[in-house]
Amino acid sequence: MKNDKKMSSIRELYRIGRGPSSSHTMGPERACLQMKKKYPEADGYRVTLYGSLAMTGAGHGTDRVIRETLSPMTGDVVFDRKTPTERHPNMMDFTLFKNGKELSTERIWSIGGVAIFPDCEERGEGVYPLSTFRDIARKCTEKNVRLWQYAEAIEGDELFPYLEKVWETMKASIERGLSVRGILPGGLGTERRAQIIYQKKHIDESPQTRENRLVSSYAFAVGEENAAGGVIVTAPTCGSSGVLPAVLRYMQESRGFSDEEILRALAAAGVIGNLIKTNASISGAECGCQAEIGSACSMAAAALAELFGMGFDQIDYAAEVAMEHHLGLTCDPIGGLVQIPCIERNAVAAMRAINALSLANFLADSHKISFDLVVKTMYNTGTDLPLGYRETSSGGLAKYYPIEKN
Ligand code: SF4
Repeated sequence: MKNDKKMSSIRELYRIGRGPSSSHTMGPERACLQMKKKYPEADGYRVTLYGSLAMTGAGHGTDRVIRETLSPMTGDVVFDRKTPTERHPNMMDFTLFKNGKELSTERIWSIGGVAIFPDCEERGEGVYPLSTFRDIARKCTEKNVRLWQYAEAIEGDELFPYLEKVWETMKASIERGLSVRGILPGGLGTERRAQIIYQKKHIDESPQTRENRLVSSYAFAVGEENAAGGVIVTAPTCGSSGVLPAVLRYMQESRGFSDEEILRALAAAGVIGNLIKTNASISGAECGCQAEIGSACSMAAAALAELFGMGFDQIDYAAEVAMEHHLGLTCDPIGGLVQIPCIERNAVAAMRAINALSLANFLADSHKISFDLVVKTMYNTGTDLPLGYRETSSGGLAKYYPIEKN
């Protein structure tokens, strides 16, 4: 479901909350809170999940989150895997009761990155007048400002204090992820590996291998925290929440960037993520993993380009190339859990973002594909993907892994 509106606040994109899924746990949680507020007299409910929510909701824990959030009300969560969805594959019906009598039924969609539709509480302030990178870059060039200054001018003084919280939460999720070993919940037996990667230094480790190891360990740390239900930042989603913090922490450590510079990079990445959310999708259920991990990689590449003071052509190239080579990437989480291939994929995408930065340094003046074009392409590629590859856990690794195992 493309947003037929202008870009909303970056604060809507970076949401702080508990994993494992922005669209399958945090979005439904938000919908429950709005229903509770709208019908304070309700004492019972029936929530029916359709589409991807019905196919992978059990693995993601959607029903548990709904029950916990709607408590003390009592009711049922129904997984309807047959009724086709309309508008977006993450569809839910909320029916609220009072003394057994139906008060109302409302249909809500969880459209990715914690966003829901319709949303009666979306923070409308800070709506951006422009919604393509080309127009934004042109405006910034005219005014001689960088992306973060453009975002700050539109969103006002609240933006950077919020980004500070975002950065603190990102760093804390890396620290927690690096400090824990063990098996992730969900029954797949996935071992936490962030600490192992972090500590496994080679005696003759080259600088490149060290970079790869550290960046990967940070991305694994956040991915594992997310899978364990820990607090993370959607960047732009839960499943892809490890990419951006991993590259930013590594660059801060290795190059000494200040927190202020990191926050500016987060603002630039936020503009890129918001452009994708507005003009295409950040939902794996709608457009496959290219919309989640591909978007996170574009955001991370743009953040790096901002950190290194690159021009708009280079930012455009970095964000574009990061997405272009994720086109067609499918979403096929085994058992509906945000673990395999999700966690490892965060590490691979973080390294790709660094590669995209290097290419932008050399090739920005000769590239032919714009970021705006690749975003449009991603959306159309995503909607062309068969349903089995759009967060239904019925195709790809999710289909073949159990078969091979048994
Ligand atoms: S495969 Fe990608 S899009 Fe699908 S749940 Fe995992 S991270 Fe999200």
